Amino acid sequence: MKPFDFCPSCAGRLEDAGDEGFRCPSCARRWYRNSAPAAGAAIVKDGKALVTQRGIEPEKGRFDIPGGFLGAGEHPVDALKRELREELGIEVDVDVEDCISMVAHPYGREGDPVLALGFLARWVDGQPRAADDVADFRWVDLDELEKLDFAWEHDRAVARTALLRAKEGSDGGS
Ligand SMILES: [Zn+2]
Repeated sequence: MKPFDFCPSCAGRLEDAGDEGFRCPSCARRWYRNSAPAAGAAIVKDGKALVTQRGIEPEKGRFDIPGGFLGAGEHPVDALKRELREELGIEVDVDVEDCISMVAHPYGREGDPVLALGFLARWVDGQPRAADDVADFRWVDLDELEKLDFAWEHDRAVARTALLRAKEGSDGGS
């Protein structure tokens, strides 16, 4: 759980300061423990949601929704568009108002805290191909979605919401 044993600034041995993070007795800097923000997107096309199979640990081989961690100073929407471009080669339309889920959860064996933001995004361009951290992808309907082995249930929930809303839209639209 500890991010560092030694101070990243001066290499002094850090002291645990509880909720205050870690304190360096040598240079007096504090190193806080915060959730790392990540952004993921559910994209629905022709009644199916795009889900991805993880190509890396943690939870390698299990399913999630495409997305990834924010860079330092990066806006969540920009990060999401960048990740979808890198991982799948697709362009999406997404905005702040499309964020429907915020879940804090432990990531992997060390349990590093992540804040996962879930968005409903609209496909714009590009045919998906798995790259980067993504081993594979699938377009799934509601039944298939419920059967998949998801790394995190909140990702399944975002995809489920996207599919249900698309269904309502098509039922009411004609
Ligand atoms: Zn230090």
